[in-house]
Amino acid sequence: MNKTKRNFWQTRIGFLTILTLCFWAKYMYAAYFDFKLGLSDPYQHFIVWLTPLGTCIIILSLGLYFSKPLVSYIAMLVLDTINTILLFANVIYYRQFSDFLTSKTIQNTGKVSQGLGKSTVALLHPSDIFLWLDLIIIIILLIIKVIKIDPRKYGFKRPFAVSSFGVFMLTLNMFLAETSRPRLLRNTFDRSYVVKYLGLDTYSVYDLLKSAQSNQVKKNANAEDINQVLDFTKKHYAKANPEYFGKAKGKNVIVLHLESFQQFLIGLKVNGQEVTPFLNSLYHNKDTVSFSNFYHQVGLGRTSDAENMLETGTYGISDGSLFSSLGSENTFQGAPQILRQTGYTSAVFHGNTGTFWNRNEVYKNLGYNYFFDANYFSQKKNDKIGYGLKDKLLFSESIKYLEQIQQPFYVKYLTVTNHIPFQLDQEDKDNNFTTTNTSNTTINNYFETAHYLDQSVKEFFDYLKKSGLDKNTMVILYGDHYGVGSSDDELSALAPVLGKDFSKWTSYDTTELQKVPFMIHMNGIKGTIDKKLSGEIDVLPTLLHLLGISNKNYIQFGQDLFSKQYRQVIVFRNGTIVTPKYIIIGGKGIKGTVYNHQTGEKITKFNKKQKAEIAKLVEYGRNSLHYSDLLNNHNLLRFYTPAGFIPTNPNEFDYKINYQKMLELRKELGNKSTSLYSQHKGTTTDLYTTDASEIDKDEINNIPENIQSATSEKNKNNQNGSPEKDNLDK
Ligand code: MN
Repeated sequence: MNKTKRNFWQTRIGFLTILTLCFWAKYMYAAYFDFKLGLSDPYQHFIVWLTPLGTCIIILSLGLYFSKPLVSYIAMLVLDTINTILLFANVIYYRQFSDFLTSKTIQNTGKVSQGLGKSTVALLHPSDIFLWLDLIIIIILLIIKVIKIDPRKYGFKRPFAVSSFGVFMLTLNMFLAETSRPRLLRNTFDRSYVVKYLGLDTYSVYDLLKSAQSNQVKKNANAEDINQVLDFTKKHYAKANPEYFGKAKGKNVIVLHLESFQQFLIGLKVNGQEVTPFLNSLYHNKDTVSFSNFYHQVGLGRTSDAENMLETGTYGISDGSLFSSLGSENTFQGAPQILRQTGYTSAVFHGNTGTFWNRNEVYKNLGYNYFFDANYFSQKKNDKIGYGLKDKLLFSESIKYLEQIQQPFYVKYLTVTNHIPFQLDQEDKDNNFTTTNTSNTTINNYFETAHYLDQSVKEFFDYLKKSGLDKNTMVILYGDHYGVGSSDDELSALAPVLGKDFSKWTSYDTTELQKVPFMIHMNGIKGTIDKKLSGEIDVLPTLLHLLGISNKNYIQFGQDLFSKQYRQVIVFRNGTIVTPKYIIIGGKGIKGTVYNHQTGEKITKFNKKQKAEIAKLVEYGRNSLHYSDLLNNHNLLRFYTPAGFIPTNPNEFDYKINYQKMLELRKELGNKSTSLYSQHKGTTTDLYTTDASEIDKDEINNIPENIQSATSEKNKNNQNGSPEKDNLDK
């Protein structure tokens, strides 16, 4: 080896350092100016600064192992180029879809690339040159020999030391990510979180592995397996009750997803005041069927698991979120698509970013016509808290879109304010409501945000009434999962509020805490409080039957709650089974913990009859989860299309131009348009009243600028569809 001392920058490792620093700078540029990573505290900024380093050093260090100097330099340049292409492709893709590339989208690009070419060029920004400038300059510097190739031969040791340093940096990064966001990869709820905490390279490798794994599982799937699943669901099918079948036929459906809302809030008083007076009154309303023993059945996928059960009638998966893990690729036979075939238009309103829980992809596969995410609402900092737009603003700002949807519609509102840690700005607090003063802040906050959610729903109901929508609309309200009570700290503060003694708290009580509200509100439905045990898995069959749609040929694991054949067996995702007689913790049977559901006593001695009953229930619980997992993990619905069902075509949806599409449709339909706007011959936004202090009239009426520009962009390319100027220019 050459013994003369060389300037560090003229060595191979110096060259690798230059490439790494340049790549780091480019990555930072993209992270801060192109990707919206939602960096909220200095610690997160620090992690993001760290994320590109480990993988970049590992990748480039591979070039050091070539013994020939020139080959080694070229290899490093090629590797750097590949890494830059990955970054560049994601920047371009993100500009259009506000999301990162997945192996699935890359595979699909081939299929739709014909139309993509032109739009990709349109997405380029002059500043993108910055991503390539370093490579160009470095190559020039090499050619004019400002950077000289280090002619010394490298052995194995030094390259290995550099690779090891890269691995160390990556490990450090993973460790810091784990401290800030535990179990990030096990429970991915948003691709942008993985990029934020682990960087683009690690995300891409992770995505590739995950996709390869699920492809392998699906490849092993056997089309015949679907028959086992069908046998199981057919065997447990509950026939519709003629008294309720079709009772809501042709009506609009509005589903209000009450975030983290637990059943114990209904009727609860703190400091002598009702926490949720409006929902309490709705619960007892003569036009509401309320279920008082309705259990949430979510697993790690939480909100998305609840959505999945309500939309598809199948359970979430055992580990992680079905939406995130399988939602991009699986075939669904969900509520939006089933209803679309009977003339319904479907939409979701949500105040968080569309990528959360992979919704932007899943909703297309479910057949949702429109998805109004945070982009469609006010962007002011004050208008958001916690997980997105404040609920009062979500409802009030949604009206300008809701009124444009053709009726009948199937519409879902995902609220977010009542989400852990239950933050509320001072101006949103009700001065007439004083929350609890327990030792636990989360508990105290929970009642305040629940109270706020109650007010939000009331304002929305007032509008339904004033606009006349209530006359032909069925409103379904449900709590998705628990909000408080997951730790001993919270439980010890909560128990006295509920009139319970924490020292006597058991897993029986924890199970009972899994109750959430479920209400069906509609003019003419015979209001009652139904005490039968029920769960989220039962909602879809119940809804379809109310709308007069038979679900007999669909694979759904729940049962119509109005059916005379309804069996009260609730299966939780962790295996726990709840029946009127028993609570079987974890589904372990008599070897585990079993409670008498009536008395709350633990059963220690089982008689013969009990043993047989419990064994049968355990088998049913296991089979329910097993067949649901078989169906979803192996994507078996692609092998089965029920008669009359038209599979979803996700490519027909573009959620960037919802507003444009609705206006075009209104124009096309002319006086056949059934939207509320057409019926009222004008907007109904003035009928909405809210006491939200953040609201200004413009936000209720105006379409945000980014949506307007997406609309007019589309319009330029579309000769026929010039939407009414007066609406767009407002
Ligand atoms: Mn939730």
